[in-house]
Formats: sequence, structure tokens, C-alpha cells
Amino acid sequence: MKYCLDCDWSLNAADEPSQRDRSQAAIDHHVETGHTIDSSESIVRPTAPDVPGSVLVRDLVPSSD
Ligand SMILES: [Zn+2]
Repeated sequence: MKYCLDCDWSLNAADEPSQRDRSQAAIDHHVETGHTIDSSESIVRPTAPDVPGSVLVRDLVPSSD
């Protein structure tokens, strides 16, 4: 699933079967809000990400700012 570290936005396979569309939606959310998107193989939102936010979007956004 994709989920936002800054708000309650999230998207999993039940919401959007297409991984490509999920990635696009995550990018759109990041672009629109500036929020940090993380992804997980789990469908359950992790409660305590242990990865710095700066690296989380590197595979989602080719070039931001
Ligand atoms: Zn958000």
C-alpha cells in the first residue's frame, strides 16, 4: 500500500488494484500537498516508520523542486 506520513491519505490494493495507478495517485498527492508518501508491502499502515522522510519519495518522484 501507499500511505501518507503527514495525513490520513492511503491507498491499498483493495482501493486501487493497479499498482501503476496507486503510484500515480501517490505522486499526485505528494505534488498537490507536499506530503511525504511511504509505501509498504503490508496492507496495514505501519505506526512507526524508521526510515527518514527524505528518502521515502525518491522512487516516486523523479525530480521534485
Ligand atoms: Zn497527505
